Amino acid sequence: MTKNKMSIETEIVHGQGCEYSTHMDLVPPIHPTSTFIFKDADHGAALFKGTEEGYIYTRISNPTINLLEKKMALLEGGESAAATSSGMSAIAAVALTLAKPGDNFITCNSIYGGTFALFNKHLRDLDIEPLFISPPDACSKELINDMINKKTKFLFMETPANPTLDIIDIKMWKSVARKRKLPLIVDNTFATPYLQNPLSLGADIVIHSATKYLSGHSDALGGIIIGSGNMINRIREEYIFHYGPVISPFNAWLILRGIKTLALRVKRQSDNAMSIAQWLQKHPAVINVYYPGIESGPGLRLAKKQMRGFGGMLSFEVKGGVEAGRKIMGRVKLALLAVSLGSCETLIQHPASMTHSTYTKQERAKAGITDGLIRLSIGIEAAADIISDLENVMQV
Ligand SMILES: *Cc1c(COP(=O)(O)O)cnc(C)c1O
Repeated sequence: MTKNKMSIETEIVHGQGCEYSTHMDLVPPIHPTSTFIFKDADHGAALFKGTEEGYIYTRISNPTINLLEKKMALLEGGESAAATSSGMSAIAAVALTLAKPGDNFITCNSIYGGTFALFNKHLRDLDIEPLFISPPDACSKELINDMINKKTKFLFMETPANPTLDIIDIKMWKSVARKRKLPLIVDNTFATPYLQNPLSLGADIVIHSATKYLSGHSDALGGIIIGSGNMINRIREEYIFHYGPVISPFNAWLILRGIKTLALRVKRQSDNAMSIAQWLQKHPAVINVYYPGIESGPGLRLAKKQMRGFGGMLSFEVKGGVEAGRKIMGRVKLALLAVSLGSCETLIQHPASMTHSTYTKQERAKAGITDGLIRLSIGIEAAADIISDLENVMQV
């Protein structure tokens, strides 16, 4: 049967080729089993040898987990995908497959706080060195190229970046990576496959914290790695099978269920975020708004080039620094004071003391994370209610 290329909204719901139809159930079953029965000894041996396809053990593969992997490979336009227990384990799996003691890699310093700690502390302890580039320098092909040496094994970026919403040029980074024959890895958590497909812009590996927009309901942790069949096999064999960061079938199922409404949620979150960003820009207590979609923003041109929308994350800075920010966070009623993102509910948090407390003050300054910065993960409520919640606590 020839397949028509469907729009992303349709694929998000149906996912051609991702149907599960043993009993004609519309919703796939959960396979909460750790192990699978072999038909006989020869069958078991053939599965281990790889001469027959089938399931052996859930750390190797599982039908529910496979369904999530197939769906994400489809939505990101990759050959293959591997699901993991969390976004962090997905990042660790990729980094530790590609780099060994003595190696280094290039990354931007405005990234997720947990990723920063993994790179800056734990990988350093293993003698794998992160070479950080500040967001303004990340726009320079020459500067990135000059940082690469014989020991460099990959380039890693997050765009939009956390929490400053910097937009990094995927195609430009790829042009440097291609010249030096290095893989480019993009953490696409903030954008989701609905708004951005890094593989189509040249990236070699895409990573998601599925905990965020893919799940969409803050009820499961998960991570996904998407790339070529060879690369995903290598990551499985060199890391996942033996370090064992496996997602539970139940969490994979929750994330599959969440994905069905991804387009609806992200569209609404993006529309809400745009209204709120525009309202914040006019507010006398606000010094700066960080949202890729605003007219005065530095990322607008690039965001329009590589994204289909601007997403539901925004940050802003109020007059009065940390103290003023704390007051706002302490008084809001609708927005919930919590880290994480991509929920149906609007979440508010303070990067300097929360998600990015893994950075020193100087490291935050380099990444453009000021002490007064407040980050919002906009939910699917009515924009007017979110605005009035902020308005009530932002009197000047
Ligand atoms: C949350 C997050 C991660 C880590 O994912 P977990 O699922 O929490 O382990 C990585 N990158 C980004 C951009 C994130 O927002």
